[in-house]
Amino acid sequence: MTMDTAELTRLDRAHLIHPYLPGDAAERVIMASGSGCRLTDTEGRGYLDATGGLWLAQVGHGRTELADVAHAQMSKLEYFTSFWEFSNERAIELAARLAALAPDPLNHVYFTSGGSEGNEAAIKMARYHHHRRGESSRTWILARSKAYHGIGYGGGSATGFPLYHEGFAPMMPHVSHLTPPWPYRTDLYGGEDPTDFLIRELEERIAEIGPENIAAMIGEPIMGVGGMLVPPADYWPRVREVLDRHGILLIFDEVVTAYGRMGEWFAAQHFGVTPDIIVTAKGITSGYVPLGALLVGDHVAETLLRDHGFPMGYTYNGHPVATAVATANLDIIEKEGMLARATERGAFLHAELEAHLGDLPIVGEIRSVGMMLAVELVQDRTTRTPLPLHPDRMPHDVIRRETGVIVRDSAHSLVMSPPLVMTESEAKEVATALRGVLERTAPTGEI
Ligand code: PLP
Repeated sequence: MTMDTAELTRLDRAHLIHPYLPGDAAERVIMASGSGCRLTDTEGRGYLDATGGLWLAQVGHGRTELADVAHAQMSKLEYFTSFWEFSNERAIELAARLAALAPDPLNHVYFTSGGSEGNEAAIKMARYHHHRRGESSRTWILARSKAYHGIGYGGGSATGFPLYHEGFAPMMPHVSHLTPPWPYRTDLYGGEDPTDFLIRELEERIAEIGPENIAAMIGEPIMGVGGMLVPPADYWPRVREVLDRHGILLIFDEVVTAYGRMGEWFAAQHFGVTPDIIVTAKGITSGYVPLGALLVGDHVAETLLRDHGFPMGYTYNGHPVATAVATANLDIIEKEGMLARATERGAFLHAELEAHLGDLPIVGEIRSVGMMLAVELVQDRTTRTPLPLHPDRMPHDVIRRETGVIVRDSAHSLVMSPPLVMTESEAKEVATALRGVLERTAPTGEI
């Protein structure tokens, strides 16, 4: 059955619930194919994907070798459970590979189907770990405003945007939000050094709740949805030191930052900090099939695996097809030197953005680590007041409609996480497209 775009649009509007799209919205962009950083819709219109789908297309679109691996594995063993004593070759191979890539002592792997499930699992693991050690009072989770941890009630509660909580009450109790590290917004810290402020606040919050009641702190090493917020270099090491002193676990939500995007396998390596649990998803398969993986420290795994084992599993733990594709995806990242490439290409794209946008009064800051980049938009560079946004005419929508370049808006920043294979000419195209729209955007946000 081949349908034209008009019919597809009609059926989409009649039947498909899209996240964050009003039911009466007329526009649809129906993607039909992809190759590298390029996408084509059902009308044959081309796009340049500077968001890597949704922050994940590490090896780029259209890698038929990954399709071949999925086909071969499906033809051999499409599925069997990994509950109890059952296992499969592909899940074992990938778990061993991840344990070798991750910093020690993260030698144990728990698979999920994505990032939201991963954060649910991590929060439950942290509580269960303390419970098994006879510290059942440790139920609180520390998180940060502007964090994004997925759609579950655990991770969703740790998420630090009121928008994501509104109408879903009651959220999970025993979650406490701290100030995010966002050095550009100096007003958040009242003139104090941002890390000093944040560490003092952390110590005070722990004292208020009582360290004996806190299971873990969860955080994205660099906040993605919050606007690619890069913390000062001493932030995570100092957080780790405080948490260690109080027996509180550190969970890194590396759903966006892992698997090369920052020029390292994990952001933990970039910041020189080893968390107790790392939650990953997205880039583990570059989006070819859904998969997530928790990397768990020996000391946590030891308590989880006592007695009757960890009492939490779900149908697709260690799915053979997903894990086979992930291993092949990691092979590509490794063989094509994508860790080094992410650093190089990210620096190139950053320099292009500086060259094309640096003089615009509405551009407050351009920041990046590897292939995670943001252009923060302001009304006024001196006051750093955020650029007002008009939902019916957002800069990223105008850029896509006029140029085919896809970037996203995230909390008054245009954010990018391109495939790690983006070429220099594609990077120039992104910067030129942004310039074309931002140079005619008024400080009122009118375009
Ligand atoms: N954690 C972070 C940091 C994310 O950015 C996301 C999704 O964007 C998630 C968790 C949720 O992952 P998923 O959408 O795969 O459930």
